[in-house]
Amino acid sequence: MKELKRSRVNDLLKKDCRDLIGKEINVKGWVRTKRGNKNVAFIALNDGSIIHNIQVVVDVPAFQNEELLRNVTTGSCISVNGQLVESKGKGQQVEILASEITLYGTADPEKYPLQKKGHTLEFLREIAHLRPRTNTFGAIFRLRHALSFAIHKYFNDNGFYYLHSPIITGSDAEGAGAMFRVTTLDFKSPPMDEGGNIDYSKDFFGKETNLTVSGQLEGELGALALSNIYTFGPTFRAENSNTARHLAEFWMIEPEMAFFDIHDNMDLAEDFLKYLIGYIMEHCEDDLLFLEKMYDKELMSRLKLIVNSKFERLTYTEAIDILVDSGQQFEFPVKWGVDLQSEHERYLVEKHFEKPVILTDYPRDIKAFYMKQNDDGKTVRAMDVLFPRIGEIIGGSQREEDYDRLLSRIKEMGIHIEDVWWYLETRKFGTAPHSGFGLGFERLMLFVSGMGNIRDVIPFPRTPQNAEF
Ligand code: ATP
Ligand code: MN
Repeated sequence: MKELKRSRVNDLLKKDCRDLIGKEINVKGWVRTKRGNKNVAFIALNDGSIIHNIQVVVDVPAFQNEELLRNVTTGSCISVNGQLVESKGKGQQVEILASEITLYGTADPEKYPLQKKGHTLEFLREIAHLRPRTNTFGAIFRLRHALSFAIHKYFNDNGFYYLHSPIITGSDAEGAGAMFRVTTLDFKSPPMDEGGNIDYSKDFFGKETNLTVSGQLEGELGALALSNIYTFGPTFRAENSNTARHLAEFWMIEPEMAFFDIHDNMDLAEDFLKYLIGYIMEHCEDDLLFLEKMYDKELMSRLKLIVNSKFERLTYTEAIDILVDSGQQFEFPVKWGVDLQSEHERYLVEKHFEKPVILTDYPRDIKAFYMKQNDDGKTVRAMDVLFPRIGEIIGGSQREEDYDRLLSRIKEMGIHIEDVWWYLETRKFGTAPHSGFGLGFERLMLFVSGMGNIRDVIPFPRTPQNAEF
């Protein structure tokens, strides 16, 4: 076969490929469908660079290798040389008149699981090794890429440094969720101490270690030196909650900023979310339109709503009053002091304000130890951003920068000083007002993709009883 430089389908269909028309080109990809008759065959070829397929036209009688053509079936992988021409058919501008085809890999039509269209998302989860070959997951993974890139771009353009927080952690101070143990000890006969407990001083790190639930505490160390940092990495929670919004392994973005108070923090969160959504609307239109058509008819209008609305800001206490006065029957009753459930959050966003909401100043008893305490003695400078369909998408706060107040809160909550002494030291040496927040990447993906289940917005979901692929 003649050696030609490979063209991506994206380049042929999207970019201005006028100067290639009439030329011999090469494309490689996976066959989505083949149809036709004994005179002509039409192959829809997809290489993942774009949601659309390029059409390969084969003049069957002129094509020498009948057997090869028979083996070009849905799911097989081929390389095609041919002339790029303007298409006579509807639905595409250009197509390829095949002169040579190499068959890289067949896909037995009797066995290939994606033979037909229209599989359920549940079925596709069971074949997570092949579902990237579908339009839906191609769109999802390209969106994930674009959104990740936009996150780094936003922070880079705004003077933030990417801090790599550790994945293995020696502290369990965050209390954000049950953790996964990391150990090299022998389960059958672990070393024991005199008290009859497992002796972790003999473990790999000389202490108990786990997979991190958040990069925030380490992020604060970075912010108190570099001013503005962000982390973007995997986090792990061994929570046995089989919901459509929880994963055991998910990615989190956590900016942390010295000299930011809670208002600066809210401004950043709002600007950041609007930027990200604007970015994918500009760069991922084809994939978004596909997802809108297939899964969520209001996707685009919801995305526009975010970009165009001013987020409503109010306190937790004000929100409780609204919920109590609403006359709504909630599954979980509301009163001051309760943690808000997503039904409450969604009522505020979808029914009451009809736009995103940022709640601040939550009761201290339902929030983490590191949040700045208000003078009322009852609330802390927390801020949660609530979105339609999702509820909480961001959780953040101004941090307690006062050593004594932080220490007393740590003691009150029964956190071991030996777990957080290094964190406390930042308040002893050059403490500064600072703030930050955490954005769950897959929660954002749920929102921007219109998908209903968090298992469908990550390539290889980790959930209870599920880590096959
Ligand atoms: P939730 O109440 O929904 O369980 P959380 O209060 O435990 O959330 P945080 O500890 O504040 O969440 O984590 C920060 C962000 O990480 C959340 O706002 C959310 O976007 C995301 N997040 C939390 N837990 C999960 C999970 N198990 N899977 C995916 N994303 C998550
Ligand atoms: Mn949780």
